[in-house]
Amino acid sequence: MKNLNRRDFFKTAAFGAAVATLGAKSAKASDKMLSEDRVGVLVDTAVCVGCRHCEWACKVAHNIPTKELETYSDSTVFKDYRRPDQSALTVVNQFENETNSLLPVNVKTQCMHCERPACVSACIVGALTKQEDGSVIWDDDKCIGCRYCMVACQFQIPTYDYDRSIDPHIRKCDFCHERRKEGQLPACVNICPNEALLFGKRSEILRVAKNRIKRKPDVYVNHIYGEQEIGGTSWIYIASKEFDKLKMPTLMKNPAPGISESIQHGIFAYFIPPVTLYALLRTIMWVSTRHKNSNSENHKDEKGEES
Ligand code: SF4
Ligand code: SF4
Ligand code: SF4
Repeated sequence: MKNLNRRDFFKTAAFGAAVATLGAKSAKASDKMLSEDRVGVLVDTAVCVGCRHCEWACKVAHNIPTKELETYSDSTVFKDYRRPDQSALTVVNQFENETNSLLPVNVKTQCMHCERPACVSACIVGALTKQEDGSVIWDDDKCIGCRYCMVACQFQIPTYDYDRSIDPHIRKCDFCHERRKEGQLPACVNICPNEALLFGKRSEILRVAKNRIKRKPDVYVNHIYGEQEIGGTSWIYIASKEFDKLKMPTLMKNPAPGISESIQHGIFAYFIPPVTLYALLRTIMWVSTRHKNSNSENHKDEKGEES
């Protein structure tokens, strides 16, 4: 991706200021009441053994070509850091454990199903939607392939079917929306042999996470990732290591959609060409990156307050 030059930045910043005024009202108007019973998953990275059965089950559930389950015990895959893509909606990465080299830290990655998802706000045709139960899903029929959601997502989750020349789609974890409608658990949660993934009401899994940290302060760092990051996420994490060392982005507490919603409405009000919009979205990422240091300080303060 091309970096934004200074001239582009000022052009897009001016546009951003204009649409921010417009968007303040619409952002508020689009606030949706989420169910108090909305669901989530607690990922306990201290319990995950890195078997990658979750990767396999996710592929099977979404008709993505896969190898035999036996091959998932091949640990050479951990040599390279991997991101979810069109061939795997979730992946597990392994990180060194400085205090116990025999117990590496395994981290499963997928869409976080943000409470206030930037991808939803950035989508100009409403192809991505936040559901009352907390999941963020998309509609292939509405998607026009503009890929603004890819730029807006601070977790770099939505991916694109680059391999498909005809009718390519955006791809990401859909929280096994269809399975859950039939009363089944998400495929990854269902198969996890070590109960590293706990599905339940978001409020309940938060309570469990807090209890685990309280009971084992020698095992876990005092931080529930996703409790507050960018307004909270449906998938939350606990770990034995600081999250920035697990390649999880350090993010502010405020949700990003206020800006994204402004963009969405600005497009229609000012007929902004896609190239300008793309540059503005890049600006948002740049601003977000600048916030990292100050947020890192926030986390330290929070940890101090909680302990
Ligand atoms: S992690 Fe990214 S793709 Fe998933 S809901 Fe949040 S903004 Fe959207
Ligand atoms: S919830 Fe479903 S789609 Fe998401 S990672 Fe798990 S198995 Fe894959
Ligand atoms: S199935 Fe469970 S234990 Fe195995 S890698 Fe996935 S989350 Fe970890």
